[in-house]
Amino acid sequence: MARVEIKDIGKVFADHTAVSNINLTVEDGEFLVLLGPSGCGKSTLLRMIAGLELPTYGDVFIGERKATRLQPKERNIAMVFQNYALYPHLTVYENIAFPLRVRSVEKKLIDEKVRSAAELVGLTRMLNRKPRQMSGGERQRTALARSLVRDPDVFLLDEPLSNLDAKLRHSAREELRQFQDRIGVTSIYVTHDQVEAMGLGDRIVVMHAGTVRQVGTPEEVYLYPADTFVATFMGSPPMNLVSVGNVTLGFRPETFLPETNFQTDIATTRISFLVHRVEYLGGDQLLYGTVGGTLPETAAIARIPSSVHYSPTVGTEAKFAVANVDLRYFDSGSGKALI
Ligand code: ATP
Repeated sequence: MARVEIKDIGKVFADHTAVSNINLTVEDGEFLVLLGPSGCGKSTLLRMIAGLELPTYGDVFIGERKATRLQPKERNIAMVFQNYALYPHLTVYENIAFPLRVRSVEKKLIDEKVRSAAELVGLTRMLNRKPRQMSGGERQRTALARSLVRDPDVFLLDEPLSNLDAKLRHSAREELRQFQDRIGVTSIYVTHDQVEAMGLGDRIVVMHAGTVRQVGTPEEVYLYPADTFVATFMGSPPMNLVSVGNVTLGFRPETFLPETNFQTDIATTRISFLVHRVEYLGGDQLLYGTVGGTLPETAAIARIPSSVHYSPTVGTEAKFAVANVDLRYFDSGSGKALI
Protein backbone atom coordinates (compact mmCIF):
# COMPACT_ATOMS: atom_id res chain seq x y z
CA MET A 1 0.00 0.00 0.00
CA ALA A 2 1.08 3.55 -0.51
CA ARG A 3 0.22 7.14 0.01
CA VAL A 4 -0.12 9.20 -3.17
CA GLU A 5 0.87 12.82 -3.26
CA ILE A 6 0.15 15.21 -6.09
CA LYS A 7 2.13 18.42 -5.90
CA ASP A 8 1.06 21.48 -7.82
CA ILE A 9 0.36 19.47 -10.96
CA GLY A 10 -0.92 20.77 -14.27
CA LYS A 11 -1.45 19.63 -17.83
CA VAL A 12 -1.73 21.84 -20.85
CA PHE A 13 -2.61 20.29 -24.23
CA ALA A 14 -1.56 22.68 -26.99
CA ASP A 15 -3.67 25.70 -26.08
CA HIS A 16 -6.06 23.92 -23.72
CA THR A 17 -5.48 23.69 -19.95
CA ALA A 18 -6.94 20.36 -18.83
CA VAL A 19 -5.61 20.42 -15.24
CA SER A 20 -4.27 23.37 -13.37
CA ASN A 21 -2.33 23.68 -10.10
CA ILE A 22 -3.77 20.69 -8.27
CA ASN A 23 -2.46 19.60 -4.87
CA LEU A 24 -3.82 16.43 -3.30
CA THR A 25 -2.82 13.77 -0.82
CA VAL A 26 -4.42 10.36 -0.92
CA GLU A 27 -3.81 8.57 2.36
CA ASP A 28 -2.58 5.01 2.59
CA GLY A 29 -5.60 2.71 2.15
CA GLU A 30 -7.98 5.53 1.36
CA PHE A 31 -10.71 5.38 -1.30
CA LEU A 32 -10.65 8.76 -2.99
CA VAL A 33 -13.13 9.73 -5.70
CA LEU A 34 -12.42 12.33 -8.38
CA LEU A 35 -15.80 13.74 -9.31
CA GLY A 36 -16.81 16.38 -11.82
CA PRO A 37 -18.66 17.05 -15.04
CA SER A 38 -17.42 15.81 -18.39
CA GLY A 39 -14.23 17.56 -19.46
CA CYS A 40 -13.26 18.82 -16.00
CA GLY A 41 -9.89 17.05 -16.18
CA LYS A 42 -10.41 14.08 -13.87
CA SER A 43 -9.22 11.44 -16.36
CA THR A 44 -6.20 13.54 -17.25
CA LEU A 45 -5.31 13.79 -13.55
CA LEU A 46 -5.70 10.03 -13.15
CA ARG A 47 -3.63 9.38 -16.26
CA MET A 48 -0.81 11.53 -14.86
CA ILE A 49 -0.88 9.46 -11.66
CA ALA A 50 -0.77 6.32 -13.80
CA GLY A 51 2.11 7.57 -15.91
CA LEU A 52 0.07 7.53 -19.12
CA GLU A 53 0.35 11.29 -19.40
CA LEU A 54 3.35 13.45 -18.55
CA PRO A 55 2.46 16.53 -16.45
CA THR A 56 3.31 19.91 -17.95
CA TYR A 57 4.43 20.90 -14.45
CA GLY A 58 4.29 19.47 -10.94
CA ASP A 59 5.03 16.07 -9.43
CA VAL A 60 3.47 12.77 -8.44
CA PHE A 61 4.77 10.81 -5.45
CA ILE A 62 3.74 7.21 -4.87
CA GLY A 63 4.83 6.01 -1.45
CA GLU A 64 8.18 7.62 -0.83
CA ARG A 65 9.10 7.61 -4.50
CA LYS A 66 8.94 10.50 -6.89
CA ALA A 67 7.06 8.90 -9.76
CA THR A 68 6.51 11.83 -12.12
CA ARG A 69 8.73 10.45 -14.85
CA LEU A 70 8.47 6.73 -14.15
CA GLN A 71 6.91 4.45 -16.75
CA PRO A 72 3.46 3.07 -15.80
CA LYS A 73 4.93 -0.39 -15.25
CA GLU A 74 7.51 0.99 -12.82
CA ARG A 75 4.84 2.52 -10.55
CA ASN A 76 3.26 -0.66 -9.21
CA ILE A 77 -0.21 0.57 -9.89
CA ALA A 78 -3.21 -1.26 -11.31
CA MET A 79 -5.68 0.40 -13.62
CA VAL A 80 -9.27 -0.57 -14.32
CA PHE A 81 -10.98 1.30 -17.13
CA GLN A 82 -14.50 1.50 -18.41
CA ASN A 83 -13.50 -0.62 -21.38
CA TYR A 84 -11.67 -3.36 -19.57
CA ALA A 85 -10.68 -5.70 -22.35
CA LEU A 86 -10.84 -9.33 -21.38
CA TYR A 87 -9.44 -11.88 -23.80
CA PRO A 88 -12.55 -13.57 -25.21
CA HIS A 89 -10.80 -16.84 -26.07
CA LEU A 90 -9.34 -17.25 -22.57
CA THR A 91 -11.16 -18.52 -19.49
CA VAL A 92 -11.63 -16.39 -16.41
CA TYR A 93 -8.71 -18.23 -14.82
CA GLU A 94 -6.44 -17.54 -17.78
CA ASN A 95 -7.55 -13.92 -17.99
CA ILE A 96 -6.71 -13.33 -14.33
CA ALA A 97 -3.41 -15.20 -14.67
CA PHE A 98 -2.37 -13.28 -17.76
CA PRO A 99 -0.36 -10.43 -16.13
CA LEU A 100 1.61 -13.01 -14.14
CA ARG A 101 2.20 -15.32 -17.13
CA VAL A 102 3.78 -12.49 -19.10
CA ARG A 103 6.08 -11.89 -16.17
CA SER A 104 7.05 -15.57 -16.15
CA VAL A 105 5.90 -16.03 -12.58
CA GLU A 106 6.19 -19.60 -11.31
CA LYS A 107 3.12 -21.71 -12.09
CA LYS A 108 2.33 -22.65 -8.50
CA LEU A 109 2.45 -19.04 -7.35
CA ILE A 110 0.23 -18.03 -10.27
CA ASP A 111 -2.32 -20.61 -9.19
CA GLU A 112 -2.32 -19.35 -5.60
CA LYS A 113 -2.69 -15.73 -6.63
CA VAL A 114 -5.40 -16.37 -9.20
CA ARG A 115 -7.45 -18.38 -6.71
CA SER A 116 -7.13 -15.86 -3.92
CA ALA A 117 -7.98 -12.95 -6.25
CA ALA A 118 -10.97 -14.88 -7.62
CA GLU A 119 -12.16 -15.59 -4.12
CA LEU A 120 -11.90 -11.92 -3.15
CA VAL A 121 -14.18 -10.92 -5.99
CA GLY A 122 -16.47 -13.96 -5.66
CA LEU A 123 -15.57 -15.70 -8.92
CA THR A 124 -14.25 -18.99 -7.60
CA ARG A 125 -17.01 -21.00 -9.23
CA MET A 126 -16.61 -19.34 -12.61
CA LEU A 127 -12.92 -19.81 -13.25
CA ASN A 128 -13.52 -22.07 -16.24
CA ARG A 129 -15.99 -19.83 -18.01
CA LYS A 130 -15.25 -17.63 -20.97
CA PRO A 131 -16.14 -13.91 -20.85
CA ARG A 132 -19.15 -14.33 -23.18
CA GLN A 133 -20.71 -16.75 -20.68
CA MET A 134 -20.77 -14.14 -17.96
CA SER A 135 -22.78 -11.06 -17.00
CA GLY A 136 -21.36 -7.55 -17.26
CA GLY A 137 -20.81 -7.45 -13.50
CA GLU A 138 -18.94 -10.75 -13.52
CA ARG A 139 -16.73 -9.56 -16.33
CA GLN A 140 -16.07 -6.42 -14.36
CA ARG A 141 -15.01 -8.52 -11.39
CA THR A 142 -12.72 -10.56 -13.62
CA ALA A 143 -11.03 -7.34 -14.70
CA LEU A 144 -10.68 -6.34 -11.05
CA ALA A 145 -9.20 -9.71 -10.12
CA ARG A 146 -6.80 -9.46 -13.02
CA SER A 147 -5.54 -6.10 -11.80
CA LEU A 148 -5.30 -7.45 -8.27
CA VAL A 149 -2.96 -10.38 -8.84
CA ARG A 150 0.05 -8.12 -9.14
CA ASP A 151 -0.43 -6.79 -5.57
CA PRO A 152 -0.50 -3.17 -6.66
CA ASP A 153 0.29 -0.33 -4.24
CA VAL A 154 -2.45 1.78 -5.76
CA PHE A 155 -5.66 1.09 -7.68
CA LEU A 156 -6.69 3.57 -10.34
CA LEU A 157 -10.23 3.19 -11.62
CA ASP A 158 -11.70 5.26 -14.43
CA GLU A 159 -15.50 4.94 -14.57
CA PRO A 160 -15.23 1.15 -14.29
CA LEU A 161 -18.97 0.67 -13.76
CA SER A 162 -20.32 2.83 -16.55
CA ASN A 163 -20.95 -0.11 -18.89
CA LEU A 164 -23.35 -1.72 -16.44
CA ASP A 165 -27.10 -1.13 -16.26
CA ALA A 166 -28.49 0.85 -13.32
CA LYS A 167 -29.37 -2.10 -11.11
CA LEU A 168 -26.15 -3.97 -11.70
CA ARG A 169 -24.24 -0.78 -11.22
CA HIS A 170 -25.66 -0.43 -7.76
CA SER A 171 -24.72 -3.95 -6.68
CA ALA A 172 -21.31 -3.70 -8.38
CA ARG A 173 -20.70 -0.50 -6.45
CA GLU A 174 -21.47 -2.24 -3.16
CA GLU A 175 -19.19 -5.10 -4.10
CA LEU A 176 -16.40 -2.79 -5.12
CA ARG A 177 -16.56 -0.94 -1.84
CA GLN A 178 -16.60 -4.15 0.21
CA PHE A 179 -13.73 -5.43 -1.84
CA GLN A 180 -11.68 -2.31 -1.23
CA ASP A 181 -12.45 -2.51 2.51
CA ARG A 182 -11.10 -6.06 2.53
CA ILE A 183 -7.90 -5.44 0.62
CA GLY A 184 -7.38 -1.89 1.88
CA VAL A 185 -5.39 -0.76 -1.16
CA THR A 186 -5.19 2.98 -1.77
CA SER A 187 -7.71 3.64 -4.53
CA ILE A 188 -8.43 6.60 -6.78
CA TYR A 189 -11.71 6.40 -8.63
CA VAL A 190 -12.94 8.68 -11.41
CA THR A 191 -16.64 9.28 -12.01
CA HIS A 192 -19.06 11.98 -13.10
CA ASP A 193 -21.85 10.31 -11.13
CA GLN A 194 -22.30 12.02 -7.79
CA VAL A 195 -24.40 9.19 -6.33
CA GLU A 196 -21.60 6.76 -7.09
CA ALA A 197 -19.07 9.16 -5.58
CA MET A 198 -21.11 9.52 -2.38
CA GLY A 199 -21.54 5.77 -2.03
CA LEU A 200 -17.93 4.87 -2.65
CA GLY A 201 -15.60 7.58 -1.48
CA ASP A 202 -13.96 8.03 1.90
CA ARG A 203 -13.39 11.48 0.48
CA ILE A 204 -14.54 13.17 -2.70
CA VAL A 205 -12.56 15.65 -4.78
CA VAL A 206 -15.02 17.85 -6.67
CA MET A 207 -13.42 19.19 -9.84
CA HIS A 208 -14.48 21.85 -12.29
CA ALA A 209 -12.63 23.22 -15.32
CA GLY A 210 -9.31 21.63 -14.38
CA THR A 211 -9.33 22.80 -10.78
CA VAL A 212 -10.34 21.37 -7.42
CA ARG A 213 -13.38 23.08 -5.92
CA GLN A 214 -13.63 21.05 -2.72
CA VAL A 215 -12.15 18.01 -1.01
CA GLY A 216 -14.11 16.38 1.77
CA THR A 217 -16.10 13.42 3.03
CA PRO A 218 -19.42 12.80 1.24
CA GLU A 219 -21.20 14.45 4.20
CA GLU A 220 -18.97 17.50 4.10
CA VAL A 221 -19.37 18.18 0.40
CA TYR A 222 -23.11 17.55 0.52
CA LEU A 223 -23.92 19.45 3.70
CA TYR A 224 -21.29 22.19 3.51
CA PRO A 225 -20.51 22.85 -0.15
CA ALA A 226 -17.57 25.21 -0.59
CA ASP A 227 -19.29 27.14 -3.36
CA THR A 228 -22.41 27.29 -5.49
CA PHE A 229 -20.88 25.00 -8.12
CA VAL A 230 -20.46 22.18 -5.58
CA ALA A 231 -23.87 23.01 -4.07
CA THR A 232 -25.61 22.42 -7.38
CA PHE A 233 -23.40 19.63 -8.71
CA MET A 234 -23.92 17.50 -5.60
CA GLY A 235 -27.46 16.33 -4.95
CA SER A 236 -30.29 15.48 -7.30
CA PRO A 237 -32.24 17.66 -7.52
CA PRO A 238 -29.58 20.23 -6.69
CA MET A 239 -29.50 22.71 -3.83
CA ASN A 240 -31.93 25.61 -4.25
CA LEU A 241 -30.21 28.98 -4.55
CA VAL A 242 -32.07 32.20 -3.91
CA SER A 243 -30.33 35.53 -4.31
CA VAL A 244 -31.09 38.05 -1.56
CA GLY A 245 -28.86 40.99 -2.43
CA ASN A 246 -25.14 40.27 -2.16
CA VAL A 247 -25.85 36.99 -0.49
CA THR A 248 -27.20 33.82 -2.05
CA LEU A 249 -29.24 31.61 0.22
CA GLY A 250 -28.91 27.85 -0.31
CA PHE A 251 -31.18 25.07 0.94
CA ARG A 252 -31.55 21.47 -0.11
CA PRO A 253 -34.95 20.34 -1.52
CA GLU A 254 -35.43 17.88 1.36
CA THR A 255 -35.10 20.66 3.95
CA PHE A 256 -37.72 22.82 2.24
CA LEU A 257 -41.06 21.76 3.72
CA PRO A 258 -44.55 23.07 4.49
CA GLU A 259 -44.35 25.37 7.48
CA THR A 260 -46.74 23.22 9.52
CA ASN A 261 -44.13 20.51 9.46
CA PHE A 262 -41.77 22.26 11.81
CA GLN A 263 -42.11 22.15 15.57
CA THR A 264 -42.70 25.60 17.01
CA ASP A 265 -39.47 25.59 19.04
CA ILE A 266 -37.31 25.25 15.91
CA ALA A 267 -35.94 28.47 14.41
CA THR A 268 -37.00 28.61 10.79
CA THR A 269 -37.00 30.96 7.85
CA ARG A 270 -40.32 31.25 6.08
CA ILE A 271 -40.32 31.15 2.33
CA SER A 272 -43.51 31.29 0.31
CA PHE A 273 -43.58 28.82 -2.51
CA LEU A 274 -45.71 28.83 -5.63
CA VAL A 275 -46.00 25.25 -6.85
CA HIS A 276 -46.08 24.83 -10.63
CA ARG A 277 -45.73 21.10 -11.03
CA VAL A 278 -45.71 17.94 -8.94
CA GLU A 279 -43.67 14.86 -9.71
CA TYR A 280 -44.65 11.75 -7.79
CA LEU A 281 -41.68 9.44 -7.18
CA GLY A 282 -43.17 6.90 -4.78
CA GLY A 283 -41.06 7.44 -1.68
CA ASP A 284 -41.42 11.15 -2.05
CA GLN A 285 -42.80 13.82 -4.31
CA LEU A 286 -40.93 16.65 -5.94
CA LEU A 287 -42.63 20.02 -6.10
CA TYR A 288 -41.32 22.37 -8.75
CA GLY A 289 -42.13 26.01 -8.31
CA THR A 290 -40.93 29.51 -7.65
CA VAL A 291 -40.05 31.35 -4.49
CA GLY A 292 -42.52 34.13 -3.69
CA GLY A 293 -41.34 37.73 -3.75
CA THR A 294 -38.26 37.17 -5.91
CA LEU A 295 -37.58 39.21 -9.00
CA PRO A 296 -36.72 37.74 -11.41
CA GLU A 297 -38.65 34.72 -10.23
CA THR A 298 -36.40 32.12 -8.68
CA ALA A 299 -37.07 28.45 -9.32
CA ALA A 300 -36.98 26.08 -6.37
CA ILE A 301 -37.70 22.44 -5.71
CA ALA A 302 -39.08 20.80 -2.57
CA ARG A 303 -38.72 17.11 -1.87
CA ILE A 304 -41.52 15.94 0.40
CA PRO A 305 -41.37 12.41 1.80
CA SER A 306 -44.62 10.49 1.27
CA SER A 307 -44.80 10.02 5.06
CA VAL A 308 -45.62 13.74 5.31
CA HIS A 309 -48.95 13.25 3.45
CA TYR A 310 -48.91 16.69 1.88
CA SER A 311 -51.29 17.47 -0.97
CA PRO A 312 -49.96 20.46 -2.86
CA THR A 313 -52.26 22.71 -4.87
CA VAL A 314 -50.74 23.70 -8.15
CA GLY A 315 -50.93 27.42 -8.87
CA THR A 316 -51.37 28.64 -5.31
CA GLU A 317 -48.74 30.07 -3.03
CA ALA A 318 -48.04 27.87 -0.01
CA LYS A 319 -46.29 28.65 3.27
CA PHE A 320 -43.02 26.81 3.31
CA ALA A 321 -40.00 27.06 5.58
CA VAL A 322 -36.43 25.88 6.11
CA ALA A 323 -34.87 25.27 9.53
CA ASN A 324 -32.17 27.88 10.02
CA VAL A 325 -29.55 25.20 10.67
CA ASP A 326 -30.16 23.95 7.13
CA LEU A 327 -29.60 27.31 5.44
CA ARG A 328 -26.31 27.97 3.67
CA TYR A 329 -24.97 31.34 2.63
CA PHE A 330 -22.84 32.14 -0.40
CA ASP A 331 -21.26 35.31 -1.69
CA SER A 332 -23.35 36.23 -4.76
CA GLY A 333 -20.30 37.57 -6.60
CA SER A 334 -17.72 34.82 -6.12
CA GLY A 335 -20.16 32.03 -5.28
CA LYS A 336 -17.99 31.02 -2.33
CA ALA A 337 -19.56 29.82 0.92
CA LEU A 338 -19.78 32.36 3.71
CA ILE A 339 -19.35 31.04 7.22
P1 ATP B 1 -14.99 12.79 -19.12
O1 ATP B 1 -15.84 12.56 -17.92
O2 ATP B 1 -15.79 13.26 -20.30
O3 ATP B 1 -14.07 11.66 -19.45
P2 ATP B 1 -12.82 14.26 -17.85
O4 ATP B 1 -13.19 15.09 -16.69
O5 ATP B 1 -12.20 12.95 -17.54
O6 ATP B 1 -14.07 14.09 -18.81
P3 ATP B 1 -10.46 14.78 -19.38
O7 ATP B 1 -10.58 13.58 -20.24
O8 ATP B 1 -9.43 14.77 -18.33
O9 ATP B 1 -11.87 15.14 -18.74
O10 ATP B 1 -10.25 16.04 -20.32
C1 ATP B 1 -10.07 17.35 -19.81
C2 ATP B 1 -9.99 18.30 -20.96
O11 ATP B 1 -8.78 18.13 -21.68
C3 ATP B 1 -11.11 18.15 -21.98
O12 ATP B 1 -11.51 19.41 -22.40
C4 ATP B 1 -10.47 17.37 -23.11
O13 ATP B 1 -11.07 17.70 -24.34
C5 ATP B 1 -9.03 17.82 -23.04
N1 ATP B 1 -8.10 16.75 -23.45
C6 ATP B 1 -7.97 15.53 -22.91
N2 ATP B 1 -7.03 14.83 -23.53
C7 ATP B 1 -6.54 15.61 -24.53
C8 ATP B 1 -5.54 15.46 -25.54
N3 ATP B 1 -4.84 14.33 -25.63
N4 ATP B 1 -5.33 16.50 -26.38
C9 ATP B 1 -6.05 17.64 -26.26
N5 ATP B 1 -6.98 17.86 -25.33
C10 ATP B 1 -7.24 16.86 -24.48
